[in-house]
Amino acid sequence: MGSYWGKRTPGDEGAGDQVVVRIFAHALAEFMSNDKSAVVSRGRTVRRNAVGSAVRHGSLAVRVVVLAVALDLALVSQAQSQMPLALPDPPAVDGPAIATDARLAGDDKQTRLVIDISHKIDMRAFALADPYRGVIEIPQVDFRLPPDTGEHGRGIIKAFRYGLVMSGQSRIVLDLTGPVRVTKAFVLDPVDGQPARMVLDLIAVDRETFLRAAAIDNHLPRPAERGPAHFDREEHTTDSRPVVVLDPGHGGIDPGTRAPSGELEKDLVLEFASMLRAKLEATGKYRVMMTRTDDTFVELSERVRFARQQQAQLLISIHCDALARGEGEAEGATVYTLSDKATDAETQRLADAENRADIIAGVDLAAEPDEIADILIDLAQRETKTFSAHFARNVVKEMRTAARLHKRPQRSAGFRVLKAPDVPSVLIELGYVSNARDLKQLVSESWRSRTGDAIVHAVHTYFTTRLAGGGSGARAQ
Ligand code: ZN
Repeated sequence: MGSYWGKRTPGDEGAGDQVVVRIFAHALAEFMSNDKSAVVSRGRTVRRNAVGSAVRHGSLAVRVVVLAVALDLALVSQAQSQMPLALPDPPAVDGPAIATDARLAGDDKQTRLVIDISHKIDMRAFALADPYRGVIEIPQVDFRLPPDTGEHGRGIIKAFRYGLVMSGQSRIVLDLTGPVRVTKAFVLDPVDGQPARMVLDLIAVDRETFLRAAAIDNHLPRPAERGPAHFDREEHTTDSRPVVVLDPGHGGIDPGTRAPSGELEKDLVLEFASMLRAKLEATGKYRVMMTRTDDTFVELSERVRFARQQQAQLLISIHCDALARGEGEAEGATVYTLSDKATDAETQRLADAENRADIIAGVDLAAEPDEIADILIDLAQRETKTFSAHFARNVVKEMRTAARLHKRPQRSAGFRVLKAPDVPSVLIELGYVSNARDLKQLVSESWRSRTGDAIVHAVHTYFTTRLAGGGSGARAQ
């Protein structure tokens, strides 16, 4: 390594070799334990139940392999300064750590990321494939980094982004040039006037090595049963008013599209949805809930699950679109419903972009079995589609009076957030932040209010005609 990393600050060096033995002992002890939870050794997690059982019942060969893995864990941990057996917990510090600077060093074989933080925190890092990304899980951090931080990469790291993923938890996601192995992920205490530092080392490996390591690193805890933290299924159980779920797109680490002048989709749609919520609630006819009410990242599947849990009778997802320079000009609002086949190429492009939200935040649900897919064939789905289309037509009709619409204002594609089989769902792209006229409207109080009123009218019409039709709706009660 030597001067490999270029400028070194005192303390970037790891702990000494004697530590290896201690960590090895620790890792081994963890492996031999009968507890069913996972062994976490900063950046590498191994399912203990399977391995532990193999050790208890297995052959000498299995024990040797486990010893080797434990030694491997110990070596990986060599330079990590947080010693589980040796050091007391760091003193409690009030408030989230503040990140103030970030540096990259290295080349396309080895790359190091160092982030200065106000005090020591726990960190956990792992790599994901397709696309190749590195993920650092940390407690909530207040990122006060220079504005262009993460936009330009170095070595293996093409770029990185960071932000809150839920209350109390932040994440850093690195876009990588190829498969890597996380060789070090540790946090250094402040020393000699230097702030505390998070250090992540990556080395380039071939895909096969990566996949083998990934099989050992059981990287991601399933967020499955966690609902958006700020919502409970609450007191309204006797309230028979229909539930309308508003879904402001993106949030937290995923900003969505960005206007040339800097406005972020995640902020624009949250403001719009909050305004729409107030208008709907003011009618007294609906219970309105939101998938997020602050700048928090919520997975697409989580949004769908939330609407279903709340037994919503309508889900309205709010977004803004953007065209890149050179993709031509487009303007006006569009209302989308779900379909297997996109209406046209532009619609497919948009659905792909919106569905990327989870990849952007480091969670790739494409790799997960899709529980929703299994029930898509349900009869309810067909009814739901009919209701969704009906509502989409209402929205287009009402919005014509209030807003400029896209030249083909009602379209469909495979938006993941619209996939609840039993909740009629539409996605409204309010306009193009890449279009100056649209953007002017999107930030205009009066335009937003007019458009909100139009959507409220569409909701009224939808529920009135649905009730008049005498059906029980898309939901099999
Ligand atoms: Zn969006």
